[in-house]
Amino acid sequence: MTLSAELVRKGTWSRSEKMLMSGSVLAVIAILSIVTSLLAREYASATDSAVRAAHNVVQLIDADVQRNADLYDTSLEGMIATWQQPEVMSVSPQLRQQIVFDRSTAAPYKGDLVVLDETGTIVADSISVIPRHDNFADRPSFILHRSNPSLGLLVTGPFKSRWGFKDWCISFSRRIPSSNGKFVGIVAASMRLAYFSRLFRGLDVGQHGTINLISAQGVMLAREPEQTERTFIGQDLSERTNFRRILREVNGSFAARSELDGEHRLYTFSRVGDLPLIVVVAQSQAEVYAVWKRNTLLVAGATGLLCLGILWLSYLLGKQLQLRQKAERELAELAATDGLTGLANRRHLDRVLRQEWARSARTGKPLSLLMIDVDHFKAFNDRHGHHGGDIALRNVAQALSANIRRPGDLAARYGGEEFIAVLPETDLKGAHALAETIRAAIAVLPPYAGDQHAVTVSIGVASRIPDSSEKEAQLFTEADDALYRAKRRGRNRVETQPAIEPETIQP
Ligand code: GH3
Ligand code: MG
Ligand code: MG
Repeated sequence: MTLSAELVRKGTWSRSEKMLMSGSVLAVIAILSIVTSLLAREYASATDSAVRAAHNVVQLIDADVQRNADLYDTSLEGMIATWQQPEVMSVSPQLRQQIVFDRSTAAPYKGDLVVLDETGTIVADSISVIPRHDNFADRPSFILHRSNPSLGLLVTGPFKSRWGFKDWCISFSRRIPSSNGKFVGIVAASMRLAYFSRLFRGLDVGQHGTINLISAQGVMLAREPEQTERTFIGQDLSERTNFRRILREVNGSFAARSELDGEHRLYTFSRVGDLPLIVVVAQSQAEVYAVWKRNTLLVAGATGLLCLGILWLSYLLGKQLQLRQKAERELAELAATDGLTGLANRRHLDRVLRQEWARSARTGKPLSLLMIDVDHFKAFNDRHGHHGGDIALRNVAQALSANIRRPGDLAARYGGEEFIAVLPETDLKGAHALAETIRAAIAVLPPYAGDQHAVTVSIGVASRIPDSSEKEAQLFTEADDALYRAKRRGRNRVETQPAIEPETIQP
């Protein structure tokens, strides 16, 4: 392992940077989920209050209509009671008309009131002293009362009145029984649906909202505000999707696009009392959610900025952290490097050797050490000066590190013109071979400045499987001994401790 590879790990994110970034991403996700859930809750509450307001409108309508239905019923009961008096036939037609329809004046928007005999012919008429010459035997109210004596107040319609205002009406009717319970006709009063239009006009459902009254069969009876360009009154809407759903559910609310004008609406609807009528309050969704939308835009904008700010700050902080770590790495590298040769310095060597010695003792694998000393360097210095000596030392260091290639190996400057190579998991033979390669590589370096002598080195090799009782200094002593032998035996050579027999040395 070269020193720089060990110390510098550039371009990768450190653990603290990863934690910082993932922390801020998590914070952003948390903020976004909280804000989203709050906005969703706000949306639901806007829907709730709109539906509640619409329900209140529907209930108001319901109560008013119910009160009027009661008035109509009172009128009908009065008409029956009067009609059943035998004396009523003996008075003049004017007086009879007055007596019979006396109690019916209170009902608003009343159409005509009639008494029909058992054949459906009009026998008393609120709008003329001489009853109109007409027969209502075909009317559903007449048919139903004739066939079913137990029916009380019956509401039928809507229909377009044949007389009078000729507008949409509904009819309230009751059966007239004779004293022995026989069917002798019906009393009927019609109510003009204009009443609903007036009622709706006084209620507020927003600028783009509408209040609609539809019959149980799906015919549009009243609509406020009225469409000036196109009226839907009298139209059968039962085939339209939204109305089909309203007719099916009778009471409830849902949001959908209006098929009449294309606007998105919130429909709230309810049956009016037990009349065959359904009130539909349609609120514009744009109005219902206008405040929510404005708040959402504000909150989303602010939250977005906040999240971007958090991410940006984390990014900046991460960058600063990276710069600091880089500076720390460079400092550590400087502290571990020899200034002249760029190899590991003495301090770093001591640390690595201690570690490798302990590891070797644990694994039981041999640890080898090369002690390299430049030959006759004093003389070299004398010839070329200190500067030349430094250049030569750098060349030697370069040749040394070029041949130390295994990731676990370390080349270091021990001091002066002495170098050390630490070779973990390498036995004596392997270390000897490498030492020989290094020696040969240095020996063939071109002589410095036309010098007659090439720079050469002597190398002492020692190798051991450490014993826990020994210290790494032992390996140094042995390598030093081997180096001393190499010097003694003529320099520019490799010696091992213990010595290897020449025939066992691999070429
Ligand atoms: P030997 O073959 O026995 O090793 O002979 P030598 O001359 O190399 O022996 P010695 O160890 O006595 O001399 C080492 C010399 O190396 C002494 C010193 O002048 C020189 N030297 C030590 N460190 C440096 C250095 O950093 N730069 C230079 N230029 N010379 C150095
Ligand atoms: Mg020396
Ligand atoms: Mg020397």
